[in-house]
Amino acid sequence: MTALLLAALLAAAPAPPQSVTVATPRGELELPVRTDATGSPVVFASPLVIALGGEVKLAGAWAEVTIARRPLRLLIGSALYLSSNKVQPMAGSVSQIGDTLFVPLDFLTTVLPREFGGRLRWDSLSAHLIETGWVARVRAPDPRSTASTGSPRPPARAGQRLPNGLRAGHLVTVDAGHGGEDPGTRGVFLPRGLVEKDITLRVALMLREELQNRGIKVRMTRTTDVRPDLRRRAPMCGADCDLFVSLHVDALDPRRSPNYRSVDGFHTIIIGEENTAESDRIARLENEALRFETADDGRAEGGALGFILKDLQMNEYLHESERAGALVQEHLAPFHPGRNLGVKQSNILAVLNTARRPAILVEMGFSSHRSDAAFLASPSGQRKIAQGIADAIVNYLLEFERRSGIADPVEGGS
Ligand SMILES: [Zn+2]
Repeated sequence: MTALLLAALLAAAPAPPQSVTVATPRGELELPVRTDATGSPVVFASPLVIALGGEVKLAGAWAEVTIARRPLRLLIGSALYLSSNKVQPMAGSVSQIGDTLFVPLDFLTTVLPREFGGRLRWDSLSAHLIETGWVARVRAPDPRSTASTGSPRPPARAGQRLPNGLRAGHLVTVDAGHGGEDPGTRGVFLPRGLVEKDITLRVALMLREELQNRGIKVRMTRTTDVRPDLRRRAPMCGADCDLFVSLHVDALDPRRSPNYRSVDGFHTIIIGEENTAESDRIARLENEALRFETADDGRAEGGALGFILKDLQMNEYLHESERAGALVQEHLAPFHPGRNLGVKQSNILAVLNTARRPAILVEMGFSSHRSDAAFLASPSGQRKIAQGIADAIVNYLLEFERRSGIADPVEGGS
C-alpha cells in the first residue's frame, strides 16, 4: 500500500531537471542533478554552497552549511535540518559518499529560498537558483548566424558598448601549451592516450569560443597539434593585444613525489621576482619543452636586450598580470574539484619571460590527481574551465577600462 502511494506520488511529481544553474553576481554554475540510492534527486553540496559564497563543514553526523554568516545544520542520512535551533523537514535526505556531501534537490529549490528569502529565489521555469544582483548574460550576436542570412554584421565602432558593458575591440592571445612532438605532462590518472597537449588545445578552442561570445577578439598560438617555439608564443600578444593567456596541466612525478595522489588544485603563474619552491617546480616542468627547440631559438630572445625588456615588462605589468591571475583563480574556484592554490610568481618561466604585455599561465589542475584528472579529461570540465577563464577576462577588462578612465559613467546610475 505504501509502495502504491509512493508510486502515485512519484507519478504526480514533475520530473526533476537534469541540471540546475546557480546564478550569482559572481558568475553562473551549472550543477548536474543526480539520484541517490532511493532514486531521489540530489545535488553535490560543496560547489553549490561555494558558488553562493558560503562554506560546508562536516562534523560527525552533521553537515554545517554557512551562507551569509548564517549556519544551517543538516543531519546526514535524514531529511531534517536545523535552522535557528528549530528542526525543519525537507523532501529528500542528506547523504554522504566518502567525503562528498549531497543535498536533496529540495534543499536548493525550497529550503535555501525560504531561509534566505531576501537573497535567493528559485525560478522553476529556467531551473535557476538566483542570487539578488545577478544579471543574465546577454550573448553577443553569433557571426555565423548573420553569415547564413547573407547580411554582414555592422563593424563594431570604436567606443561602442557590448551587452556585457565592455568596449568593443579587445584582443586576447590564447596559448594552448605544448603540441606536436611535445606532449606535455602525462599524469597517471588521465585516460590512456590523453596527454596535456590535447587538453590544453581543447580548452583553448573552447576559450576562443567563449571569449568571442563575450565580444572579445582572439588570437591563437596554435589551433592544431603543432608546436610553436616557447619563446615565440607570448610575443604574439603585441601592442594591439590586452592579455596573453597560456593554458597548461600540472602534474607531479610519482617517482619524485610519493604523495602525488593527495596533491590537487589549480594555480596561475605570472612573471615576478618572488619565486617559490612551487613556482620553480612549475618552471622546470614547463621549461622542459625547450629541449625540443634549437639553440638558435634561445639566442633570438637572449642577450642584454632580452633582460632589459624582461625587466620593463615585469615592472609595468606586474599589477595587471596579478589582477588577471587573481580573477581567474576566483572564477575557477566555485566549480573546480581541486584546491585554489592562488597566484604565484616566477622569473624563470620561458613562455612568460618573452611577454611584452600582461600575461598569465594557468595550470588548470593536476593530471596526477584522480578527481582533477577526471575533471580535466571531461568535456564538461573543460567547458567550465573555459567559461570561468572567459568570465574572469571580462571582469579583468572591465576593471582595466574603469581604472584607465575609458569607461562611461553608469547610465542612470548614481
Ligand atoms: Zn605544460
